[in-house]
Amino acid sequence: MDSQEPVLMLDDALWERLLELTGGQAALCYQCGTCTAICPWGLVRDETVSVREFIRRVQLGLETTEALWLCTTCAQCETYCPRGVSITSIFRALREIAWERREVPQGLPSLLWSLYWNDNTWSQPPSQRAQWAKDLAIPVFDPAQHEILLYVGGAASYDNRVQKAAAALVKVLRAADVAFGILGAEEPPSGADALDVGHRPFFEELAGKTATVFRERGVKRLIALSPHSYDAFKNHYPFVSEGFAPQHYTQYLAELLESGRFRPNKPLEVTVTFHDPCYLARHNAETDAPRRVLAALPGVTLVEMAHSGTDTLCCGGGGGRMYLETEVGERFSDVRVEEAQEVLMPATGVAIMATACPYCMVCLEDSVKARKMALTVKDIAEIVALTI
Ligand code: SF4
Ligand code: SF4
Repeated sequence: MDSQEPVLMLDDALWERLLELTGGQAALCYQCGTCTAICPWGLVRDETVSVREFIRRVQLGLETTEALWLCTTCAQCETYCPRGVSITSIFRALREIAWERREVPQGLPSLLWSLYWNDNTWSQPPSQRAQWAKDLAIPVFDPAQHEILLYVGGAASYDNRVQKAAAALVKVLRAADVAFGILGAEEPPSGADALDVGHRPFFEELAGKTATVFRERGVKRLIALSPHSYDAFKNHYPFVSEGFAPQHYTQYLAELLESGRFRPNKPLEVTVTFHDPCYLARHNAETDAPRRVLAALPGVTLVEMAHSGTDTLCCGGGGGRMYLETEVGERFSDVRVEEAQEVLMPATGVAIMATACPYCMVCLEDSVKARKMALTVKDIAEIVALTI
C-alpha cells in the first residue's frame, strides 16, 4: 500500500455506544432502503437523504452526515420499516453522542441554554409565561377544585399565533363548565425540545424536576396543547403519581363532545382538512380524536389529504428543525399546504386546514404567508370555539 494513501478510520466506539443507547436497534437494519424511499426529504430535494446509507455508515463506524440534524424525527420511515427498526431512536442516540462530543449545529446550544435559564426555548423571561392569559383570569391549578391541569407549554405561552389557539381552548373548556387551572408563571418545561434534539441527560434532568412539581401540586389529570409535550409526559416521563393521566387536548375535547358536556351552539358551514401532527398520529397512534371532534361539530365536512392519519406528512418542525434554518424550497410545510389546497379547492364557502400542534401551526402558517396563499390554518380548538 502507498504510505501516502489516506487511512480510513473506523470509530468502533461510536457503534458500541449506539448499540448501548438503542438497545441494539441499529443492528437490526438489513439495508432494504424503504426508509430512504419514504423520507419526506425526497419530496423537497433532488438527491434525497439516504437513511439506509446513513445507518450503514454508523454500522461500519464511519462518521455521520448532515442527515443527523436534518431528520425531523417524524417517524414516517419507521412506520414502513420491515424490520421494525426504531429509526428515530437511532437518530436521537446519535445526537446524544454528538452532544457528548460537542459536534452540534450552531443554534442548538443556545436553544438548550435558554431552556436551562428561562425554562423555555423562546429566550423569554419565565415571569412572562402567563402573560398570554392576563385577561382570561384562569385560576392557578388546585387539585381540590380542579378536574384537570391545562398544560400550556412554551409555544402557546410565548408565540402570538399559538396563544390564540390556547385562548380558544380556554373558551371551549369554560363553555363546557370544566373546572381547570394552569400553573401560570410557575409552569415548568416538559423538556420535549431537549428530547427532540437528542440531549437525553438534560431531558431527564428537566423531566425529573417537572415530575416533582406535578407530584407536589397534586396533578393527576392534565391536558397538553402540544403533542410533543403530551408524548414526553406519556412515553418518556419518570413516575409522577398513581393514576397520572396525560392527554392531548383533542382527546379531552372528543370526550366533552361525545358525553354532551360541550354542546355546539352554532352550526358551521365549513370544509376542513386535518393535518395530523407526527407526534400525535405516529408517535402515539392517535388519529381518531381530532376527527371525532370534527365529526361532532354540525356543519363540518372533512376531506382527507393524500397523506393522512398515520401516513401524515411532517410539517418539518419536529426534531429541533423548528429552530434550525431550512432553505426556501426545502420546507416540508410548503408541500403540505399545497396538498391541503388541492383537496380544499373544490369546496364552496369557508375552507380550513386544521391542525392540533403549535409547531405545525407555525410552520404551516409560515408557508401559507410565504406562498401568498388564500388558505386559512386553524387549530382544532379554534374551530370548536367557532360553534359557541
Ligand atoms: S427500512 Fe429499516 S431495514 Fe430497511 S434500510 Fe431502513 S432501517 Fe434498514
Ligand atoms: S424520521 Fe422522518 S425525517 Fe427522519 S429519517 Fe425518518 S422519514 Fe426522514
